[in-house]
Amino acid sequence: MTLTASLVECPADRLVCRNCGARYPLSPVHACIECFGPLEVGYDTAALGAVTRSQIEAGPPNLWRYAGLLPVGQDPAGRVSLNPGFTPMVRADRLAAALGMRSLWVKDDSANPTHSFKDRVVSMAATAARGFGYERLACASTGNLANSVAAHAARAGMSSMVFIPADLEPGKVVQSAVYGCTLVAVEGSYDDVNRLTSELAETDEFETTAFVNQNVRPFYAEGSKTVGYETAEQLGWRLPAQVVVPVASGSLLTKIDKAFTELVMTGLVDAAPWRVFGAQSAGCAPIATAFHAGHDVVQPVRPTGIAKSLNIGNPADGPYALDAVRRTAGSFAAVGDEEIRDGIRVLARTEGIFGETAGGVTVAVLRRLLGSGALDPDAETVIYNTGDGLKTLEAVAGLVGPSVTIAPTLRAVRAAGLMD
Ligand SMILES: *Cc1c(COP(=O)(O)O)cnc(C)c1O
Ligand SMILES: [Zn+2]
Repeated sequence: MTLTASLVECPADRLVCRNCGARYPLSPVHACIECFGPLEVGYDTAALGAVTRSQIEAGPPNLWRYAGLLPVGQDPAGRVSLNPGFTPMVRADRLAAALGMRSLWVKDDSANPTHSFKDRVVSMAATAARGFGYERLACASTGNLANSVAAHAARAGMSSMVFIPADLEPGKVVQSAVYGCTLVAVEGSYDDVNRLTSELAETDEFETTAFVNQNVRPFYAEGSKTVGYETAEQLGWRLPAQVVVPVASGSLLTKIDKAFTELVMTGLVDAAPWRVFGAQSAGCAPIATAFHAGHDVVQPVRPTGIAKSLNIGNPADGPYALDAVRRTAGSFAAVGDEEIRDGIRVLARTEGIFGETAGGVTVAVLRRLLGSGALDPDAETVIYNTGDGLKTLEAVAGLVGPSVTIAPTLRAVRAAGLMD
């Protein structure tokens, strides 16, 4: 497949093997021919360094304000996007007080068009896919990616086929199907689904299909950098001392770290140390387990538990997430389903933000890391709420509900003790 002009004129100029450093042209490939390592987008440092704060600030109030730091989308006409991003950065004083912290922010990425941060990665992948001439979008998904791929395809007038584990939450199933995709429910875990779609991607029948998190994964992954850019810009162009990031494949975590590295390298922010912390659920904690065992290799697990959006048992970016956390003197923690449900309610009650199970994982992990002393309660901290609680209502539906049910009369209100 050939490159379009919009891909040639961007600051990215290559794909690089994260394992052996081999270089490739910008193309829809994701694995190194030499060593099978994963590829990532590499940039012309001078082109990145030419980007200024005022250029970014003059841009649109969405992730395309960072187009000068991204591999696709420099030409607005070529974008396949619901224009996500520039989501609220909420100063969380009440949650901070509840946890005994001095300075805490919630970056609320549930406020995206399909209600999760996945709109960022899909904007990159879909734009690259169209640039490379693909006709159909596809993915293997734990739920949120399926929602976003189906919506992006609908907006762009492309067809889409999304593959999900058959046991996903009803909210995520409905939110994919409503956009008119072909929704394939697979009897198996996400890792089974992912293996199936990797095989499909190699077949002639799927030659014109872009699997957003597989054959265009290097482009997909760069979308997560914009979470890191926004964090810094919304703090007034500086880096937070600590970030707590929910982890599935580990991609988001590594890209927030990459974004901070680039911002310092380009002079867009002053150099300052930051620490990256990873949040997993106890039902699927392969990276947290490797971290605490001191291993470099991540042993796959069979996922269980309610945090389904994070249930990847064989995480593609595991070793790189371990590296980012170790290099920045961060840590990992994993929390059980009851702590996750509690995390959802604490965030909702203190800040008015209703996160999905992944948000509950992140708040509960923050509390764990404070308890163990791994995270400094006095250092400025940002946590990421990556999806909307309305997608996973069943997580807390049994725990909250009407305080009382009454007849529509004053007497009934009084009898219920509501006027005491
Ligand atoms: C996909 C997802 C993540 C993290 O994904 P990575 O694969 O680690 O990049 C976090 N939160 C939610 C809600 C997600 O859907
Ligand atoms: Zn290689």
